[in-house]
Amino acid sequence: MVKYALVCLLLMLSGTVFSEGAEKDIVIVIDPGHGGKDYGRLASKDDYMHEKELNLIIAKKLGNYIETNLSHVKVIYTRTDDTYPSLTARCNLANNKKADYFISVHCNGSPNNAAAKGTETHVNSFDNKTSYQFALLVEKEFKTRAGRKSRGVKNSADRHHSLQVLKDTDMPSILIEAGFMSNAEEEAYLNSSYGQEIIASAIFRATRTFLKKKHPTINFTDGNTETADGTPYYRVQIMSSIDKVDTDIPEFKKLGVEVTRRKVNSSSMYKYKYTIGKSKDKKEVKKLQKLAREKGFKDAYIVRY
Ligand SMILES: [Zn+2]
Repeated sequence: MVKYALVCLLLMLSGTVFSEGAEKDIVIVIDPGHGGKDYGRLASKDDYMHEKELNLIIAKKLGNYIETNLSHVKVIYTRTDDTYPSLTARCNLANNKKADYFISVHCNGSPNNAAAKGTETHVNSFDNKTSYQFALLVEKEFKTRAGRKSRGVKNSADRHHSLQVLKDTDMPSILIEAGFMSNAEEEAYLNSSYGQEIIASAIFRATRTFLKKKHPTINFTDGNTETADGTPYYRVQIMSSIDKVDTDIPEFKKLGVEVTRRKVNSSSMYKYKYTIGKSKDKKEVKKLQKLAREKGFKDAYIVRY
């Protein structure tokens, strides 16, 4: 009996040591700005979307990229439909869930300067080094790989007020202005699924680089953490290969969107499959198939899994 109790005690102790040694998953709160009664900036035409709708689409694409490509990261949205959680509720959610990072997604506008264009990433203060580092990486991705005009990282002094979601969240937080809806060219871009995909994948790449840097002991790519809710997604398969090919080769880079590699158990020699996009809406994915074909992947076809 004593021996049994000792074994139990040892098991308990080793269990404790084990759980302390394992790093917990990273929690990222993604906040699609506005929603419900709060439209944000209004669309200039009937067939364009209002800011609240654009924010939600880009935010969900970003969340999908993270969930598909990074293990040990949990995504929580402040909203997933056309509702309006108050700014206080958004901050409380992130604080109560003890989120590690907070990303708010918005689109910009300038009422008296139709020429203003480009992306901005806001932080509450440049003194918050972690938020600032993250914001710099987002703007760098916008500028380099996504080919956007970057207006840089802004703080509350730049905009003469502080944004509540940046100020009242306890964790490093950034607010992204993905482009100017008041600029005709950028409004069209933001309304295209191509543009939305490029914006979301730029934010995703910055997030991945940032997480790897901040958490060097976590292996973010040791498995596919795709959330299985029973419904398969449509994707565009652009290539398959016998040997493992890097997902950032120039041929893939010119697509402008994130390429996902997957190893499959198959009797074929081609064990590696490369896809872009991920949506339950086949029409969305068809647009990406067209893009892939235009960029040289003539045999790109739609797969579902
Ligand atoms: Zn906004």
